[in-house]
Amino acid sequence: MIPIAIGFLWLLFRTTQTHKRQQSTLSSEYFKGLNYLLNDEQGKALDIFVKLVESNWDTIDTHFALGKIYRKNGEMDKAIKIHQGLIARPSLPEQYRSKILLELGYDYLGAGWFDRAEGLFKEVLIQDKKSKEARHNLILIYQQEKDWYKAIEIAVDLFADNPAVTGPMIAHYYCELADIAKTKGDITQLENNANKALKYDAACVRATILLADQAKASGDYKKAIKLYESIEKQDAESIILVIDSMLECYASLSSENKLYEYLLDLQKRHENLFLQTVIVSVLEKSQGKQAAIDYLSDKIKHQPSLAGIQKLVSYKEEEIGADKIFSDLDKAISVMQKDSVEYRCQKCGFSSNTHYWLCPSCNHWGRVKPSVIEHEH
Ligand SMILES: [Zn+2]
Repeated sequence: MIPIAIGFLWLLFRTTQTHKRQQSTLSSEYFKGLNYLLNDEQGKALDIFVKLVESNWDTIDTHFALGKIYRKNGEMDKAIKIHQGLIARPSLPEQYRSKILLELGYDYLGAGWFDRAEGLFKEVLIQDKKSKEARHNLILIYQQEKDWYKAIEIAVDLFADNPAVTGPMIAHYYCELADIAKTKGDITQLENNANKALKYDAACVRATILLADQAKASGDYKKAIKLYESIEKQDAESIILVIDSMLECYASLSSENKLYEYLLDLQKRHENLFLQTVIVSVLEKSQGKQAAIDYLSDKIKHQPSLAGIQKLVSYKEEEIGADKIFSDLDKAISVMQKDSVEYRCQKCGFSSNTHYWLCPSCNHWGRVKPSVIEHEH
């Protein structure tokens, strides 16, 4: 209770500064209310504050601030009481209505009552069609509820204002729909939704993967390969996500060597990408272990890497059979590599060995990427 009272006292000081004329009467009433707050008699305190706000709506900011403090403390019931009290005032000036509804919406979100929050944010939108805050919160609710159609409906209105941010988001909603169509075996819908995703974000890797996987599943390997390779233009690092699928396509066409050549070219075009181990594993599958060892032994001199050394050690171990020195080396390298992760969010740094389209940590779409940029050792 004390921090709330202190925070409130500070706000009171700020407010009374701006309303010096009414200061004396306001102050004495406010201090009375504050006293109730300190004595944990919130009901009585709120009665006083509501009366004060009715006599001077300019003081409404202190109510919002008090509500925020309660919400921050997890006392949603108290925050709700404040905002409901305000909205129920017959003398409430129309200009404050949207703001109070928004605050109440946040209270409900905090309390986990998504339905009620949704209703309020919708009401805000009716009053203020342009409210980005209401739209943004509705999107978060629909995202949480996996209601992709509704999320798209709200998000498309934001698209024109900020396509760089909203486009990728909408694209992922269409990809979610494409994924659902995929599990239902509805190929037309899968392709429709993936293409819509690309319309909103031409660089949507996920949509390209969905289309490419579909081509591969239907046996059109050439089309699939073309699509997989087009990811390079969208986001070169993400190629790593489809190497295995590409290898399957090339294997079905009995031309694994072409993938090896493609990767070599890719490495030349993107020197910052770390493709050494990927190339080695493709080479092993297409030309055998010795070719892989030869490539790696040579490569490691110019581009030393722990992952490369470990691979060489494991080849050597296989060659000479179980050997203590090699298995110790292998373990030591594993320890040295403990920080290496497969995927990392470029927005918040969240790292994981599982790939997510939606970052579980910062809630951004398409920012978790394979960590294929060469590590500095
Ligand atoms: Zn993140």
